Amino acid sequence: MKPPTFDYIAPKSIDDAVSLLEQHEFDAKLLSGGQSLMPLLNMRLARPELLIDLAHVPDLDYVREERAGLAVGAMTRQRTVELSSLVRERHPLLYDALTYVAHPQNRNQGTVGGSVAHADPAAELPALATLLDAEMTVVGPTGVRKIAAADFFLTYLTTSLEMTEVLTEVHWPLLGARTGYSIQELTRRHGDFALAGVMSTVTLDGSGKIDRARMAIFGVADRALRCPDAEAMVVGEVPSESLFEAAAERAVEVMDEPLSDVHATAEYRRSLAGVLTRRALAEAADKAATRS
Ligand code: FAD
Repeated sequence: MKPPTFDYIAPKSIDDAVSLLEQHEFDAKLLSGGQSLMPLLNMRLARPELLIDLAHVPDLDYVREERAGLAVGAMTRQRTVELSSLVRERHPLLYDALTYVAHPQNRNQGTVGGSVAHADPAAELPALATLLDAEMTVVGPTGVRKIAAADFFLTYLTTSLEMTEVLTEVHWPLLGARTGYSIQELTRRHGDFALAGVMSTVTLDGSGKIDRARMAIFGVADRALRCPDAEAMVVGEVPSESLFEAAAERAVEVMDEPLSDVHATAEYRRSLAGVLTRRALAEAADKAATRS
């Protein structure tokens, strides 16, 4: 398939990009790596009259450590983040998540901002943002605002970004001491979107009990789902198989209507998410025990 005809413009500043969005609103789409947008155009699922390419907007391509986290510019290519020594050293979970995204060829083009703004419910970066309570910085006609992940992802491919706003940065909180992590997912082929996936972190206190746990299930609903009840029930407990079994059962209760499609039924996804949650908690707890 080929895309419908469209006009193309490459603004040289964020202000120009914002004013172009203001002028063209529903008829324009921002272009980052094109790894999701261009397939949508080729399949005629999107027909914008104007593509506004962010590639020449300065100061959107960076990885910096600040505010107990990593600030990543929206136009930073996924591969740049993956190959960053700062990310490997300071945020191994962000590094790990990127290795699950598509293929290196896609990651060479795909950007962190594009993946988060696209908000595919089976995508790893939106799930990670949900797990870590990442913070999005957006710029629009009324200036700059910060949006917490819990308020950013609304539903399938839909965020709280206004039509006239540009996502400029994602702030990824660091994991902290004595914290292990795990990503468990099942895909039909390597590089495909997950049929179901679970990301988890576990933080131990000085006595080896669980101080904090985070869980996010993705690929099963209209967005990644946090599991607050399951996260609360393990706090103060010693990691154990039976605890994680019970937590996994509680976790999948957040999936009130799991996705059912040609790839997997709702029941399959629910059962798979339970198994993956149990494995993710166990692996994260094991890793936490080895980290100071
Ligand atoms: P684009 O495609 O350029 O844009 C995506 C959407 O976000 C568009 O609607 C665009 O208007 C909007 N947008 C882009 N940048 C901004 C911004 N700064 N502010 C506001 N809106 C913006 N992803 C995964 O997570 N996991 C996978 O396993 C996976 N597998 C894939 C397999 C293949 C074969 C392909 C082609 C893609 C796959 N992807 C996967 C998607 C890929 O990761 C994309 O890179 C990502 O979803 C979009 O990033 P992008 O920079 O290409 O954005």
